[in-house]
Amino acid sequence: MIIGVPQEIKNNENRVALTPAGVTEFVKQGHSVYVQQGAGASSGFTDQEYREAGATLLATIEEVYGIAEMIIKVKEPIASEYPLIKENQLLFTYFHFASSQPLTQAMIERKAVCLAYETVEKTDRSLPLLVPMSEVAGRMAVQEGAKYLEKPMGGRGILLGGVAGVKPANVLVLGGGIVGTQSAKMAAGLGANVTIVDISLPRLRYLEDIMPANVDTVMSNEYTIRQLVQQADLIIGGVLIPGAKAPSLITRDMLKLMRPGTVMVDVAIDQGGCFETSHATTHQDPIYVVDDIIHYCVANMPGAVPYTSTLALTNATLPYALQLAGQGWQKACSQNEELRKGLNIVHGKVVYRGVSDAFDLPF
Ligand code: NAD
Repeated sequence: MIIGVPQEIKNNENRVALTPAGVTEFVKQGHSVYVQQGAGASSGFTDQEYREAGATLLATIEEVYGIAEMIIKVKEPIASEYPLIKENQLLFTYFHFASSQPLTQAMIERKAVCLAYETVEKTDRSLPLLVPMSEVAGRMAVQEGAKYLEKPMGGRGILLGGVAGVKPANVLVLGGGIVGTQSAKMAAGLGANVTIVDISLPRLRYLEDIMPANVDTVMSNEYTIRQLVQQADLIIGGVLIPGAKAPSLITRDMLKLMRPGTVMVDVAIDQGGCFETSHATTHQDPIYVVDDIIHYCVANMPGAVPYTSTLALTNATLPYALQLAGQGWQKACSQNEELRKGLNIVHGKVVYRGVSDAFDLPF
């Protein structure tokens, strides 16, 4: 199959969908890979590395879309890419259709085959192509939190791990899923006192088993959260109710109970956020202050660490992409139920229930 890897052109997107290592795998299996010049530069991969791995470099995005049977991307196509997409072309990328009617309409009109990373689903209902980004964001939340706790950044001026003779900081993690687990591990590793709250008792049992001694697990409810925020230095929000807006676990009135300079990192901001006072921010302008509490609410946290994020994402996408290239999407999706769940729009027809429901389209 002919594979095309365009440069991401969405604002501030520095990741690339295929690394030179990935190119090697495709070429080994007899496929041809065309990569747009400079596509890997922001993730630390040079054109020369792609060439050495066996890819052909193309100067323009038009050439990449023009030649490829399968386009592998990171973010959904933006409006200037719509006309480049050909009938029957396979697109394997994040789409998040339900949040954009214009994108959905455009992909219906282009009659392409749209296989969305975010709906590829394993039998245990986990989402293998979303997990790596939650891992990155969860780890990064602690790094960002530690930074904004520094006095010159407006924070309380406390070191997460403390030092001999000085108590470490208290880190409160809301939600003990992928984000919360990674945050707790990082904060605990730095020596902080960590508390994870979750509504799932089996999840709390599991975390209690695997976490180090400086991590406590507590059942999530409003009363307990109200108590815990008063002692917290850093609060990380990583709750998720699938398919719904995140619940506001920290209400505006709770900010008054906190110490000035406390930092709150709302990783769940892409689902509306789990603090009542959250609104989405960007890497250019990541924080704002409400009632002396610092809010960090960047909706695409992994974008700031494209080297790590690209490798983490492509480690997860590559086996699926190779199967699609090797068997063609029809056979691959009939043999692999995980991939079939990724099909969202096929030849102008919506085939994913969540997307048809979002815009009242025939299913
Ligand atoms: P997950 O499903 O693995 O974990 C969510 C956890 O929240 C679950 O354990 C669930 O039991 C718990 N939960 C639900 N309601 C709760 C409540 N009331 N109190 C406490 N816990 C509760 O999800 P995840 O992969 O960890 O993702 C968490 C959020 O982070 C999602 O909204 C995801 O989209 C977001 N995310 C954001 C970024 C970013 O850049 N901002 C990056 C990756 C993921």
